[in-house]
Amino acid sequence: MDDKDPSILRHLRDVQPQLWWLDEDPLEPASHSALIGDTTADLCVVGAGYSGLWTALLAKERDPSRDVVVVEQRETGAGASGRNGGFCSASLTHGFGNGMARFPKEMATIERLGRENLDAIEATIARYGIECDFERTGEIRVAVAPWQLAGLRDEVAARNRMGDDVEYLDADEVRSRIHSPTFLGALYDPDGTALVDPARLVWGLERACISLGVRIYEGTKADRLEDGGDHLVVHTTYGTVRAHRVALATNVFPSLVRSARKYVAPVYDYTLVTEPLTSEQLASIGWAGREGMSDAGFQFHYYRLTSDNSILWGGYDTVYNYGGRVRLEYEVRAETYAKLAAHFLTTFPQLEGVRFTHAWGGAIDTCSRFSPFWGRAFGGRAAYVLGFTGLGVASTRFGAAVMLDLLDGVDSELTALTMVRRKPLPFPPEPLKYLFIRLTQWSIDRADRNDGRRNAWLRLMDRLGLGFDS
Ligand SMILES: Cc1cc2nc3c(=O)[nH]c(=O)nc-3n(C[C@H](O)[C@H](O)[C@H](O)COP(=O)(O)OP(=O)(O)OC[C@H]3O[C@@H](n4cnc5c(N)ncnc54)[C@H](O)[C@@H]3O)c2cc1C
Repeated sequence: MDDKDPSILRHLRDVQPQLWWLDEDPLEPASHSALIGDTTADLCVVGAGYSGLWTALLAKERDPSRDVVVVEQRETGAGASGRNGGFCSASLTHGFGNGMARFPKEMATIERLGRENLDAIEATIARYGIECDFERTGEIRVAVAPWQLAGLRDEVAARNRMGDDVEYLDADEVRSRIHSPTFLGALYDPDGTALVDPARLVWGLERACISLGVRIYEGTKADRLEDGGDHLVVHTTYGTVRAHRVALATNVFPSLVRSARKYVAPVYDYTLVTEPLTSEQLASIGWAGREGMSDAGFQFHYYRLTSDNSILWGGYDTVYNYGGRVRLEYEVRAETYAKLAAHFLTTFPQLEGVRFTHAWGGAIDTCSRFSPFWGRAFGGRAAYVLGFTGLGVASTRFGAAVMLDLLDGVDSELTALTMVRRKPLPFPPEPLKYLFIRLTQWSIDRADRNDGRRNAWLRLMDRLGLGFDS
């Protein structure tokens, strides 16, 4: 469908530039005061998204006597954690195919650790009574072009050999569940993904942290780290934290460890949400299993039902802005909304006339291997985890557990993994970074239109282990 067609654009007439998850939610916690003056801690965590809050929570669970402080420049969940699609996936490697391409020998272990991680998230949500609409409904990845079918079949076989339990659905089987004329087949993973309300998850983690005695300061930006001898000094907006250990969970924002910055590119991803579907509209698409959905192109959409049966529809058209800055103005992109709306109506033509009510964007911390990496600084007294590349709702818990092991000097099954020991290849400096990403995006778009055939540039990138994804 043409994304300039006025019949598409009228579906966007009433869209508000707002996060659906934040719409007058009674579960939003009260804000926390900023840190004024100096304080001390055993562990200071910088950033109150999932990575930071899981780090604080796991630190307290491992050792309740540990004094833990979190400093957040804005408010809890202000970054990607409060604005994502809520796909809480067992994958630690941004999908099985990407993991296999990079860590083939360890993939069986990584997949098992990923499933254990998702189980542990479910258990934590139950233990602390976190109300985040957790539904372990699984995920369906659909082929929308014939060339995608073989890859899905191969993945089903390979994953089941490694202990996963996934299924191939042919066109009739997938269309009988969710009615779209574009679906040609699918990979169904009944257990490897849960859906959550992402903002409620981050707020619930915040409450759980506070219940264990973690102190959280909002409106408190960490400006720099200083070596104070037997401790580190975190210099903040109006004060300092003197801490034995510092965990940096700052995602796309400039890392306090400068050498980490070259590995990450902030890439903007956009999402639309419809008005709640009527029972007739819902019946017209089926979807009784409420699975998380995505498609199998190199550029992919992700979509799901919300608690009030609106459809969240995002992905596909991701944007890297020259210079790699994180800016409020990048969070709105009308041309992407039009493209997303057109793709939505191609997928669900029976929903012609439905209104989109919410639209927003957010930055993803893309790295060249599309999966998290870790690093240490100040002789191991500071550590960071970054690079989740659009799949961090669940893997941030794993990222936090590894970061704590690194800070505590623990040699574990986790810290022995190649993905933990090795970093991705860095992106080149600007203007090469911009050119590299744009050329790669252009090539990916061509591959999607060209029956999946990767051009010479993408094949070279594959050989070098470099890439770009969202
Ligand atoms: C639109 C969108 C959709 C997505 N959908 C999904 C999805 O469905 N499933 C999935 O698995 N992943 C998804 N993701 C990715 C996922 O949201 C992230 O990987 C995850 O939230 C990262 O968590 P984080 O805690 O590392 O980062 P963030 O949530 O960004 O937290 C970092 C925090 O650090 C704070 N901070 C930064 N610098 C400083 C400083 N110097 N001092 C103090 N505070 C600082 C920031 O303000 C921020 O609150 C999506 C992302 C986006 C943007």
